[in-house]
Amino acid sequence: MADVQLKQVSKVYANETVAVKPLDLSIKDKEFLVFVGPSGCGKSTTLRMIAGLEAISDGGLYIGQELVNHLSPKDRDIAMVFQNYALYPHMSIYENIGFSLKMKKFSKSDRDRRIREAAGILGLTDFLERKPSSLSGGQRQRVALGRAMVRHPKVFLLDEPLSNLDAKLRVAMRAEIIKLHRKLKTTFVYVTHDQTEAMTMGDRIAVMNDGNLEQIDTPFNLYEYPLTRFVAEFIGSPKMSVFKTRIHRRSDWQIKINGQYINLGSGLTSRLITGQSDDQRVYAGIRPEDIQLSHIRDNQSFLAEVQTIEQMGSDMYIHVAIDECDALTVRASPDTKVSVGDSICLRVDSNKWHLFDHQKEKTLLRSPFRPAAKSREEHLVS
Ligand code: ADP
Repeated sequence: MADVQLKQVSKVYANETVAVKPLDLSIKDKEFLVFVGPSGCGKSTTLRMIAGLEAISDGGLYIGQELVNHLSPKDRDIAMVFQNYALYPHMSIYENIGFSLKMKKFSKSDRDRRIREAAGILGLTDFLERKPSSLSGGQRQRVALGRAMVRHPKVFLLDEPLSNLDAKLRVAMRAEIIKLHRKLKTTFVYVTHDQTEAMTMGDRIAVMNDGNLEQIDTPFNLYEYPLTRFVAEFIGSPKMSVFKTRIHRRSDWQIKINGQYINLGSGLTSRLITGQSDDQRVYAGIRPEDIQLSHIRDNQSFLAEVQTIEQMGSDMYIHVAIDECDALTVRASPDTKVSVGDSICLRVDSNKWHLFDHQKEKTLLRSPFRPAAKSREEHLVS
């Protein structure tokens, strides 16, 4: 079993920077878990504490039920892959991949078997005699993965491993790493600042912000049911439009947008956490794909003026001005006939609103899929 558990794990650096606030998190055996968040939010520190490269200030770290706080990195049965590959330039690819096995005094034949097995899986067999300088960035990153693989670790830790690659290669390597994870059937913990990378790779994603775990969930749940305004805006591209407004209780619940009141759908209001009041201040969010241009003026539509247009080829993003925020983004068909300055009628999918408390910025909606009594780390930690 190679599950990893963090119980109230925190990190305060010597200069008193609080990098990670007490964190409860359980990474399942064979799971692909991604830490994502903006630069400086504590992702790498968390990963480095799991690796044993950074001392834990407080709390307990368990790998496969064993408390490992005081075990050195080499005794933790983990392997880490770094952004900068960290290959030895004077060694061949064969020697680079096998280096850790040599240090651990594996026999020559065992080393050879493991190196060739990893090289085979990674498509490096024809490059084993070469030096790193003659390989491309993607191939070098595969060597770094190979070097981790030959150790047959319980857990792979990957810290922004694709950041040095160009955009096209990054997409190709994502797919390779996902395939590798399936093949090796081992726990992978992956750090990235790129939400698209996180969404496409993770079985679950842990979103961090300012040393806090905001939410840990599947990509689908993060996108559909963000627990905080931060997650709502961080996950998704182009991002969700979020603005300050008020909700009103008439015969139906309504929301004010651009001075107009439009209805909230019954599917949505049935999920409203009890205790919300008439004229309550909220943050409301709506994703670009949940607003459409419409010819019908009804209680789900409003008028707004086109501010800017982005033609993407596959889609068109129309940014409209509303009273409550600088711009609301609408995803439209690329052949939509609109111009800057036009007043257009927009219809919102009334069950797709996201509502957050205006002070703590936490969701006011229950997730339909979230069982009432899930383990603690599945919930917002704050
Ligand atoms: P991320 O990986 O999300 O970019 P880090 O874990 O690297 O974030 O850093 C979290 C916070 O800890 C940041 O404020 C960073 O400046 C600080 N930090 C990181 N390493 C050190 C260190 N060795 N000494 C002091 N502060 C550090």
